[in-house]
Amino acid sequence: MDKLIMTPGPTYVHEEVRDELKRPITNPDLDLSFYDFYKETCEEIKDLLNTKNDVIMLSGEGILGLEAACASLIEEGDKVLCIENGIFGEGFGDFVQMYGGEVNFFHGDRRRGIDIEKLGEYLKHNNNFKVATLVHCETPSGITNEIEEICKLLSSYGIITVVDAVSSIGGEKLMVDEWEIDVVLGASQKCLSAPPGMTFLSISDRAYDVMKSRKSKIRGFYLNLMIWQGWYEKKWFPYTQPISDIRGLRRAVQRNLMDEKVIERHEEIAEACRRAIKASGLELYAENCHSNTVTTVLIPEGVQWSDLNIKLQEKHHVLLAGAFGFLKDKVFRIGHMGENCKVGFMVEMMKALNDSLKELGADLKCELHHEFLKYI
Ligand SMILES: *Cc1c(COP(=O)(O)O)cnc(C)c1O
Repeated sequence: MDKLIMTPGPTYVHEEVRDELKRPITNPDLDLSFYDFYKETCEEIKDLLNTKNDVIMLSGEGILGLEAACASLIEEGDKVLCIENGIFGEGFGDFVQMYGGEVNFFHGDRRRGIDIEKLGEYLKHNNNFKVATLVHCETPSGITNEIEEICKLLSSYGIITVVDAVSSIGGEKLMVDEWEIDVVLGASQKCLSAPPGMTFLSISDRAYDVMKSRKSKIRGFYLNLMIWQGWYEKKWFPYTQPISDIRGLRRAVQRNLMDEKVIERHEEIAEACRRAIKASGLELYAENCHSNTVTTVLIPEGVQWSDLNIKLQEKHHVLLAGAFGFLKDKVFRIGHMGENCKVGFMVEMMKALNDSLKELGADLKCELHHEFLKYI
């Protein structure tokens, strides 16, 4: 089991976080100090997101946050703009439709970040949307969209913005208030390097106004973001909180906040990784807007992902990720996010990747791990 996991989530969980998980628990509904603990955790997440907006945490993986945002904001017949240049952006459309929204896609080039000029042109003629959905880091493609410009643009038309930042929070700059993002959602197991199982959202007053002025009731209880209103004053949670997971997440958030150079380190390691990949003759999937948390690489000719996966796991004890959907068997992905974004882990992984590819007959122009270190 003890493999080096270098996947774009779940990531390596630090001992300090694991220590939180094994502490004795209290009754989170009845122990009044837990309400303060929960509130302080939300305050720290606000710092992470650079927002004064309300923050809540839900027990469930990132998809729960995404679905809860759609279920709470969207009702029958709402016009929704789904901006997509990859699997998660496109998938948002399914959730919008599930809750009765009328989906209008803005399709971007799948190997590039969303083109702001083209989006601006499109919005000049089509802007009658209640909500827009978009993805900060398209994890399968290794592309980080320029959401600052996109959200400000959408906001100028009064469109509510919902951003999936699951794989970027903690590793890429994110200024929720300054960039006018109404709802942003994240998860525990990506860049924050806590175990899977928690999602959190920040919600603007504008977004709450939309939920309050719905014509129909929000379908569902667990997905209803409004049920949290006044939880602290009422000393009431909608359901029993996963106290150990919340403690783990809080420690992970604190570790990220204490690390003053965290964004710079992601930039430096991601850049060194990309340069080594290119120098070896391998090709990056993304043509611009490269993610600093995940690098997506085309599988070289003559190599099968299934063989590379087995070689990496069984001979070198390293886990990398393949991909799914339209990228299945075409690319592999290196996660260098959160606790995994360390030179030592990277060198070990790059050596395993280098040796595995060579053993499978790929022709590399350099030693990946040596090349990587040249740029650090
Ligand atoms: C990981 C991730 C999610 C959550 O998806 P899972 O498949 O449940 O892990 C949502 N959005 C993005 C962009 C992600 O990277």
